[in-house]
Amino acid sequence: MEASELASKYRKQGFKTLKLKVGKNLNGDIEVLQSIRAAHPDCLFILDANEGYTANEAIKVLEKLHEMDVIPVLFEQPVHRDDWEGLGHVSQIAKDKYGVSVAADESCRSLVDAKKIVQESLADVINIKLAKVGVLGALEIIDLVRSSGLNLMIGGMVETRLAMGFAGHLAAGLGCFKFIDLDTPLLLAEDPVFGGYEASGPDYSFSNARGHGGFLHWENIAWTHSPIPMSQPFDMGTPRQRLVAELVQSSGLSLTTVNPISS
Ligand SMILES: [Mg+2]
Repeated sequence: MEASELASKYRKQGFKTLKLKVGKNLNGDIEVLQSIRAAHPDCLFILDANEGYTANEAIKVLEKLHEMDVIPVLFEQPVHRDDWEGLGHVSQIAKDKYGVSVAADESCRSLVDAKKIVQESLADVINIKLAKVGVLGALEIIDLVRSSGLNLMIGGMVETRLAMGFAGHLAAGLGCFKFIDLDTPLLLAEDPVFGGYEASGPDYSFSNARGHGGFLHWENIAWTHSPIPMSQPFDMGTPRQRLVAELVQSSGLSLTTVNPISS
């Protein structure tokens, strides 16, 4: 599907801000943005380069966007996670020259990283993911960031609504996140979770009386109590297989064959 068609699909669902994965090819990225912009002139953008640009390329992108009169609401992880100098440089230019906030995602994998980002003013926003730093790690980073004046974003990996539900509850409960990016369940072909939060486009409702309220199709889950080494690499291709991986990670059990649950 063309980028502008995809944009139309999500705009119809009520999303006003779209996140674009960029960072592979500077000119190609600008073209995609132009095509979406032409079809949806009032659409807001978050750019996520996933470490893909050099600092110079990231600044070039901001320059081109400026020429197009586009001010992204956020520019996520413009450079490689270990390029601290580049991150700080892009952040400074983005903020001072173009009025754009930069978020650290892959660069912030621990409280130590968060402290460095805060102390050296390397980004304006820190993207927290429970799958990246855990719940306690997230709470420590949240405390630090809140007291520092930086802004917080909450995101996720490609997760089912089970994991997203935890992140959503955390975000709704604390209310301190300026950017909420919890939409990856939309990318999955099927939703293996019963109950849980209700989503209507960008609006999530957490009204369940008991906990997060979501549960699984247990009959489809393959699991074991004894540690059996995997003989083959685990294929994360289907939602059910990802779900099993999530479940196993959170339970401390070991993964066995995925054949019984292949869909
Ligand atoms: Mg990201």
